[in-house]
Amino acid sequence: MLTILNPATEEILRSLPTDSPASIQDKFALAKASQHRWAKTPLEERKRALQNFAQKLKDHEDTLASTLSQEMGKPLSQARNELRGLQPRIAFFLEAIDSVLREEDVTPRLPGEDASAPAPLREIIAYEPLGVIADISAWNYPWFVSTNVVIPALLTGNTVLFKPSEYATLSGLAMVDLFHQSGIPKDVLLPVIGGGSVGAALLEQPLQGVFFTGSYATGLKVASAAARRLIRCQVELGGKDPAYVCEDADPAAAALSLADGAFYNTGQSCCSVERIYVHEAIFDRFLDTFLREVATFVVGDPADPKTYIGPLARKEQIAFLEAQVQDALSKGAKLLLGGKRLDGKGFYFEPTVFTHVDHSMDLMKEESFGPIIGIQKVSGDAEAIALMNDTAYGLTAGVYTSDAARARKILDLVSAGTGYWNCCDRVSPRLPWTGRQHSGLGSTLSHLGIRAFLQPKALHLKRP
Ligand code: NDP
Repeated sequence: MLTILNPATEEILRSLPTDSPASIQDKFALAKASQHRWAKTPLEERKRALQNFAQKLKDHEDTLASTLSQEMGKPLSQARNELRGLQPRIAFFLEAIDSVLREEDVTPRLPGEDASAPAPLREIIAYEPLGVIADISAWNYPWFVSTNVVIPALLTGNTVLFKPSEYATLSGLAMVDLFHQSGIPKDVLLPVIGGGSVGAALLEQPLQGVFFTGSYATGLKVASAAARRLIRCQVELGGKDPAYVCEDADPAAAALSLADGAFYNTGQSCCSVERIYVHEAIFDRFLDTFLREVATFVVGDPADPKTYIGPLARKEQIAFLEAQVQDALSKGAKLLLGGKRLDGKGFYFEPTVFTHVDHSMDLMKEESFGPIIGIQKVSGDAEAIALMNDTAYGLTAGVYTSDAARARKILDLVSAGTGYWNCCDRVSPRLPWTGRQHSGLGSTLSHLGIRAFLQPKALHLKRP
């Protein structure tokens, strides 16, 4: 059984039976048997189901937001933002799918040849679905990270075995139910319920693709399992995302933007700002606004509309953050705000700000995934770039400056899948979401994140 706790109250919300290796095998068989039928279902019909899904998200927003907030502690207003944020993503997928699926005619033509005349031998690239794929998902943005996979997978004709995180299972089940109500057949999208061992058992099935969102440690296991079967694998993993504030930036505007980037979703975003480097010339002015802003963040009941910081989703993360605090303090960091768990019920940790930090400290090297930030003073671009690159991760990086050319030069020198100028913690459906190094392999979103669910077929077509 899977026991689902409310991290704000520590009360049990639900207990659910989990899948066994035998039930996973049965679900795989269903998904396998339906895949060709689904791939042959007219694209317009598949798109219509997605349009229905978009409407149902709006119709059921109150209940869905409340479930999400209760099971992972996300403040209700932020849960609503996540659900509303699905609309532009769905619109993008619906708009882009036709062109991504279109066959490409790459037939060579001689100079001066009439391109409209039928060629004796045509060369075509066609695109086919992978087959049955698994989506193993994280809990921090369960709607975003799951639908980034499930929607393009379904639109391209794959069938999907979807394992939500055990910390977002109720939202995962609600999502599957909504897809079924919208016209996605029950043997085309199937939930697989349970913890890590259920995820590992799912990988034992003869899948044609694995799409994973989660930690680096688990991502390595998933990628290894996929490699042994030579199947398509994408892993979207953690980050230690840096931001650099140059001396020509507006220090107050940068501080407000970065405080939100570091603490939104209680710091539990893959692209949360996790390290800040500020030029010494504006360090004090930046810090002053940053601290004043963080001090206004209301910590409390996620259901209260005023709450900005909810509990952590997982109890174990409290001890992890306490260890980062102790490590930083023991190495000379200065604690300016927070630094400890809150007494009473719920997995709460105070918003925490350190200065006098350096890269000997875990706080500046290991993903924190909580409401904690280190702010380091730097002397200029060269030092900032070296520090930004001093990480095993490579998800996003940001720079705040009034100089566009300088921003571009710095972003080109930082190894990260996403670069931000004067913004942070932002995802666009039109751009690939992609990590480097320990932040992962492959892309979701954009046309690349649709193509990821297709395999090419080379057609050599010779007229008799
Ligand atoms: P985990 O790696 O703990 O879990 C991810 C998923 O893998 C869960 O569904 C989990 O199941 C499952 N799992 C655990 N063990 C195995 C296994 N051996 N085989 C197969 N599946 C397994 O990550 P979290 O859910 O805690 O998510 C947080 C992490 O995700 C952070 O590092 C964050 O940065 C990253 N992330 C990255 C994103 C990106 O786009 N790059 C987006 C969102 C998050 P269960 O939870 O049920 O145990």
